[in-house]
Amino acid sequence: MSALAQITLMEDCLFCNIIAGKIPSKKVYEDDKVYVFEDIKPGAPTHVLIVPKRHIRGLKEAQTEDAEIIGYSHLIAARIARERGIEDGYRTVYNSGPGAGQSVFHLHLHLLGGRGVSWPPG
Ligand code: 5GP
Ligand code: ZN
Repeated sequence: MSALAQITLMEDCLFCNIIAGKIPSKKVYEDDKVYVFEDIKPGAPTHVLIVPKRHIRGLKEAQTEDAEIIGYSHLIAARIARERGIEDGYRTVYNSGPGAGQSVFHLHLHLLGGRGVSWPPG
């Protein structure tokens, strides 16, 4: 993909616009690698999205160079769960592809907790 095509893609991307502050969000945490915010339609008392600042379309499209950010996102999720006192049980989820409910095509890790989370998920 050309650099111009990549920029156009990011301008159209909801989460790139949230990260850039062009669309408001309830920020939970931010550093140079990730932006974390409250899900607009929470499915649990804690439902936050851990989003790499770099645009990656989804887990299916992730490359070897994305391995670090994928692991790092999980460690951020674990830290937020610890801080929120939900370590009795929480879930981290990547919905991958429309069949699994992925609706935003910028990689994001869901952290859900603060209530019982049953298994298997629906
Ligand atoms: P997906 O369905 O792709 O796995 O997850 C996308 C998530 O983003 C959904 O849980 C949805 O509620 C959330 N979401 C969609 N649009 C917005 C928005 O504009 N702001 C926030 N904070 N969350 C959003
Ligand atoms: Zn994006």
